[in-house]
Amino acid sequence: MQRIAVLTSGGDSPGMNAAIRAVVRKAIYHGLEVIGIQRGFSGFIEADMGPMNLGSVADIIHRGGTILRTARSEEFKTSRGRARAFENVERYGIQGLVVIGGDGSFRGAEIFHNEYNIPVIGVPGTIDNDISGTEYSIGFDTAINTVVEAINKIRDTATSHERTFILEVMGRESGYIALMAGLAGGAESILIPELNFSINDVCEKLYRGYKRGKLHSIIVVAEGAASGIDISKQIKEQTGLETKVTILGHLQRGGTPTAFDRILASRMGAKAVELLMSSYVKHMVGMVEGRIVAAPLEAAFEEKKPIDLEVYNLAGILSI
Ligand code: ADP
Repeated sequence: MQRIAVLTSGGDSPGMNAAIRAVVRKAIYHGLEVIGIQRGFSGFIEADMGPMNLGSVADIIHRGGTILRTARSEEFKTSRGRARAFENVERYGIQGLVVIGGDGSFRGAEIFHNEYNIPVIGVPGTIDNDISGTEYSIGFDTAINTVVEAINKIRDTATSHERTFILEVMGRESGYIALMAGLAGGAESILIPELNFSINDVCEKLYRGYKRGKLHSIIVVAEGAASGIDISKQIKEQTGLETKVTILGHLQRGGTPTAFDRILASRMGAKAVELLMSSYVKHMVGMVEGRIVAAPLEAAFEEKKPIDLEVYNLAGILSI
């Protein structure tokens, strides 16, 4: 293997830059050449790519987002689009591809490998942490720290005003951000899309706390479980209690990556290069029990990553 390419695809996440840096520098360390592809699969199709060197990734380890930029490409979902991408594989002499992104990007990479037999390695980068085959994906730790910071601030005003606050966080299909940030932030209730919840239980818990003299409460809701505004209305109807809603939105995607995410990204990016050099052809890197390992690419999307019930139950016990 002499020349590999790297791209970032799908939703961006903090730490993707650290992963790009690791891919580029580890590859150059081993004497490989690296092509950087801009705008994910869109740039792959449109030949928006060029060589990267040690300096191309200087001063990016601490930056959120991705210097290669990212995109969603409908065209890559068509065989015509992928055929155009393969023309560029031949034109640029690319012998292996590292795809940093979520499970959608991995799916695209897998199909591309099946059609054209080019080795592909997926590096999980998504704040949702919804990729099976890895305990952590790049960006998740930064995102939950952002949410916890928001909870801390809201807690100050919740205490001062003796109010209940509802914080709506990202996670259309995955409750990982809500669950882990809720646990770390000491939320009274955590609502996630993976588990049914009853608004009666939420209200009862609020009411119990209220009677006990608890002056404030925080409810964290993943956007895929319910809208914060709806929950607020339902609480008002059932209990008469006023609640305030904060929707965190896209600020959860940005920011300087935490040390954890930088370390994870550095290790995963380097591992991706090692896998390509060791003739792995359709794999992802993942963290399992603290170690960086290889798994078949399908591991990412064959089954939905289950929520950690032990953590969910613990959050319930600790917020009584
Ligand atoms: P993420 O990687 O964050 O899950 P998406 O699901 O939007 O984000 O996927 C990113 C891109 O991956 C899509 O825009 C598309 O180009 C490609 N992709 C996703 N699913 C497929 C598929 N079934 N076939 C080919 N390409 C796909």
